[in-house]
Amino acid sequence: MTLQPIKNIKLAARDGGRRTVVKIGNVRVGAGFTVIAGPCSVENAGQLLETARAVKSAGADLLRGGAFKVRTSPYTFQGLGVKGLRLLAKARDETGLPIVTEVVDTRDVRRICEYSDVLQIGARNMQNIPLLKEAGRSARPVLLKRGMQATIEEWLNGAEYIMEAGNPDVILCERGIRTFETYTRNTLDLSAVPSLKELTHLPVIVDPSHGTGRSSLVEPMGLAAVACGADGLMVEVHRNPKEALSDKDQALSIRQFGSMMGRIRQLRKFVEGLR
Ligand code: PEP
Ligand code: MN
Repeated sequence: MTLQPIKNIKLAARDGGRRTVVKIGNVRVGAGFTVIAGPCSVENAGQLLETARAVKSAGADLLRGGAFKVRTSPYTFQGLGVKGLRLLAKARDETGLPIVTEVVDTRDVRRICEYSDVLQIGARNMQNIPLLKEAGRSARPVLLKRGMQATIEEWLNGAEYIMEAGNPDVILCERGIRTFETYTRNTLDLSAVPSLKELTHLPVIVDPSHGTGRSSLVEPMGLAAVACGADGLMVEVHRNPKEALSDKDQALSIRQFGSMMGRIRQLRKFVEGLR
């Protein structure tokens, strides 16, 4: 049976065997396995730097941290804003890890590009068309998370908007979708990974932190992402998860992250051997 291509997906559509590799400094997303790690939110200099050093020594390739947050409640921590961007840039200077941070408003795109190596567009904004277009006009790679109610087709259309505006460097990130299940925060749809490999040349990574909402499930689902062919992971790590200002239930401690990275390396060797 021949695959039915998704209507109107042109630039993002699979093109023979060609695979896009997104270059961020020395990091190549889509060639090998890329790990993005760091806190949900940038909270202060000490928290960010300690986490950045630790994830780097455990083998992470990129540092994540939210400065502009889109929280469910207006009464919770909203992020440090520009001060958070400055702390991220400082952490990059110190560790050499390129930065990934979320942009939530078209008016911030240019300013965030001054500090960040990658623009993250979060689940809540996956169909914010003006934001997709603005990120598409920027010179930074875009990490596009799947909307929590989005089909794969809608998600690929989001990528198409960014590419159509002139930016070919899009990384897709599966982060779980809403289902009737309540034990997990979201239902991590790992079948999206091999599905996207059939449909697009863009790299696909997996976020088992938001995908499950439970720190105990992050490593098993991270390993499963390796097994199903993901190009990398995004993982939330905090030096003291109990005290995290956002998403504390899903944050790995520095020790847990180190042990997960060891197992990921082992499993990768095995999976490579199968190819
Ligand atoms: C995040 O990565 O911090 C985040 C808010 O994720 P999502 O957009 O997937 O909810
Ligand atoms: Mn988070």
